[in-house]
Amino acid sequence: MIVQPIHENGVKMLLNAGFEVVQASNPEPSVVAREISDCDGVIVRTALFTAEIIRNAPKLKVIARHGVGVDNIDVEEASKHGIYVVNTPNANALSVAEATVAFILALAKQLKQMDAATRRGDFKIRDLFSTMDVDGKTLGIIGLGRIGSLVAKKCQAAFSMKVLAYDPYIDTSRALELGVELTSLDRLLKEADFVTIHVPLTTETKNMIGEAQLKLMKPTAYIINMARGPIWDEYAVVKALNEGWIAGAATDVFVEEPPKNDHPFLKCEKILLTPHNSALTKECVIRMAEGAAQGVIEVLTGKKPSFPVNLDLLRKYGKI
Ligand code: NAD
Repeated sequence: MIVQPIHENGVKMLLNAGFEVVQASNPEPSVVAREISDCDGVIVRTALFTAEIIRNAPKLKVIARHGVGVDNIDVEEASKHGIYVVNTPNANALSVAEATVAFILALAKQLKQMDAATRRGDFKIRDLFSTMDVDGKTLGIIGLGRIGSLVAKKCQAAFSMKVLAYDPYIDTSRALELGVELTSLDRLLKEADFVTIHVPLTTETKNMIGEAQLKLMKPTAYIINMARGPIWDEYAVVKALNEGWIAGAATDVFVEEPPKNDHPFLKCEKILLTPHNSALTKECVIRMAEGAAQGVIEVLTGKKPSFPVNLDLLRKYGKI
């Protein structure tokens, strides 16, 4: 089953491998739970994939995440049932890293505000001298994994940025290799001109950026969330922007997607918004669809999946 539409290349791979492919009539968990009972594999994008769905899928052997973050999938429940959860970790890092660089430049050059001012005839805005150069500035990366590392490389190469990173789980040798200085979250927030978030959503990272953290930042600094909405406190971000604790922000992700009409970000001029589409470039959707299809085919043909995310849990429940 495919819960939300994917690029046709992924569908073709599954058909060519001899599988029947069905599309859920709606990504609502209650609908998927009703329609999934006969399926051996499923490809999930951002829709919630709950314990209820898993309990209604007695034949299910693999859940393939079209993308990286598996926080929308009940991985624990899947593992209890011996179901592999796989993802496409190498498919989207490049696209998300490029979008991060685009955000850094758009914030520094105030593209959103300058475009709006020019359209309303406010040409004098140019005399405010309010934009800034990125070259030589300090970038703070929270989570120096695949995406964070690529952002570091691009910003060092293109803008000679000094890069600080907070990531307690990576080797210092990896940071050295990247020419990045590992530091505490507090120091990163205090010193960076641009802070960018690239951690997975976990119990540890949920709300890791709140009022106390935003207050550590420079009033001239910007913060970008490319990871998951709940990692920062959205209301604290709006307060920080409205009260001038920081200069601006950008996000590709929201606590609730899509955001409701009265979401405070929608009324705040100082935050640049995109609809969780940084990994949905023409090239990236093909890589993710093919990668997810590959993961399904590997498990259903008895091969070891290339990118399993729940091996530890499958072992814990005695399933492998
Ligand atoms: P990754 O696993 O390669 O890197 C994540 C890094 O975060 C790792 O180095 C890990 O050690 C670090 N980390 C984990 N917990 C941490 C903590 N408490 N504090 C600091 N660092 C911590 O993953 P990735 O491919 O770089 O993707 C990162 C996240 O970006 C994904 O989990 C996903 O939620 C998000 N993402 C968003 C989009 C999008 O469309 N906006 C696309 C892809 C990924």
